[in-house]
Amino acid sequence: MDYKAHIKIIDNYPKEGIQFKDITPLLQNGPAYKKAIDEMTEYVKSKDVDIVVGPEARGFVVGCPIAYSLEKSFVPVRKTGKLPREVVTEDYGLEYGKDTLAIHADSIKEGDRVIITDDLLATGGTIEATIKLVEKLGGVVVGCAFLIELQYIDSRAKIKDYDVFSLIRYS
Ligand code: IMP
Repeated sequence: MDYKAHIKIIDNYPKEGIQFKDITPLLQNGPAYKKAIDEMTEYVKSKDVDIVVGPEARGFVVGCPIAYSLEKSFVPVRKTGKLPREVVTEDYGLEYGKDTLAIHADSIKEGDRVIITDDLLATGGTIEATIKLVEKLGGVVVGCAFLIELQYIDSRAKIKDYDVFSLIRYS
């Protein structure tokens, strides 16, 4: 599958100098979306997981269908102020900005095997903060799965201790 044919590259969005990868054309193509999710699901399945965790909002777009098809739990990670019960939080830096992520404090138990999914790996700030949230709750991060990896940004050093899968790579 030529996934890149379904990704649009937008120059200087949302800031000057950023080359934004727009995945919405891929989501709009049913067979391409299904094939991409199926390939990510095969990776997740091989890791024998209890929980799929995804940061908002595009982490839900890939994480939810994977969790659904494997009959596993899905746990959302959100920006602060969006989750209604007790949370733990972690500050992080983005490719274009800074923010704080939160997870429900009771969503993961000690020893749970967790896969983190997101649409795109850029600087690694989001995945690093999400890993810290999972580990604060006692979860074991057994892998991270991305639809897209931007290999021209050095992010792997931040997550060198973790198993990483990416389907579409830009170098
Ligand atoms: P990182 O934290 O720098 O690795 O950035 C990854 C996060 O920012 C992901 O949650 C993405 O959804 C979002 N993001 C960063 N760059 C892009 C892009 O080019 N296209 C789509 N999402 C992006």
